[in-house]
Amino acid sequence: MINDKPSWLTKRVPNQESLHRMDHMLKSLSLHTVCEGADCPNIGECFENKTATFMILGKTCTRNCRFCAVSKEAPEILDEKEPQNVAAAVKKLGLKHVVITSVTRDDLQDGGAEHFVNTINEIRSYNKGITIEVLIPDFNGNHKALTKIIKAKPEIINHNLETVPSLYHKVRPEANYERSLNLLQTVKNIDGQIISKTGLMLGLGEREEEILKAMEDLVEINCDILTLGQYLQPTKKHIEVVEYITPEKFNYYKKAAMEKGFKYVASGPFVRSSYNAIEALKVIK
Ligand code: SF4
Ligand code: SF4
Repeated sequence: MINDKPSWLTKRVPNQESLHRMDHMLKSLSLHTVCEGADCPNIGECFENKTATFMILGKTCTRNCRFCAVSKEAPEILDEKEPQNVAAAVKKLGLKHVVITSVTRDDLQDGGAEHFVNTINEIRSYNKGITIEVLIPDFNGNHKALTKIIKAKPEIINHNLETVPSLYHKVRPEANYERSLNLLQTVKNIDGQIISKTGLMLGLGEREEEILKAMEDLVEINCDILTLGQYLQPTKKHIEVVEYITPEKFNYYKKAAMEKGFKYVASGPFVRSSYNAIEALKVIK
């Protein structure tokens, strides 16, 4: 157990009105966001800027990652209207770039890939010119499911490694580092036009050389974008923070990653996969 949070991890209290407004709109369309589901520290800022990351396939997950605040109850029946409702919400918010993620649905034969595709297609048909980023689960290595998503041609496919291989058993026991790397590699192998993206949480006890090695593994498979952020314990039941990484160290990792060959790197204590996601696209495209 480490001491209290350092000063650089203080966030101003979110504006209640914008939280309430967004919450109301999401409830009226029966939608969920990872912003709320995962207790993201950026929620005030993102909701004020009228941006959110939609979480499809329900709000309960079949996996049990030790860092994640998303509910782990029995899986829900798929909401057939969800793709249209997400598309309608994107329109209401006037988004130019949208990030769609999901819980993991190991109970579904295709892991929910078809539902992702329907959501991508609905968003496109309602929102001309929009760019789409999907933050996908590993589909248990199901190649057919992944291919469906690639064929739907989102601009960015993101899949988070989350941590270094030595911590997988402790942090995301049902996942597999090689399988996640393989997913990112498959995206580029099948469609080199799609931008691939991944992220790591720091502060879980990983060593510097392990982070640098993970960067090399990713550059080797042509991964384009890397995000690095501080892990924050959502509740006492979740895995503890081992270290608070300083902003200077985050800058050091950003420089190291750019030198290794990533096209875009976001690195900082409050960086999350979907934080200011449109920026990377502006730089790369
Ligand atoms: Fe939501 Fe991403 Fe913003 Fe967090 S950083 S509030 S998950 S859009
Ligand atoms: Fe959370 Fe994703 Fe792990 Fe499910 S698979 S527990 S949503 S991080």
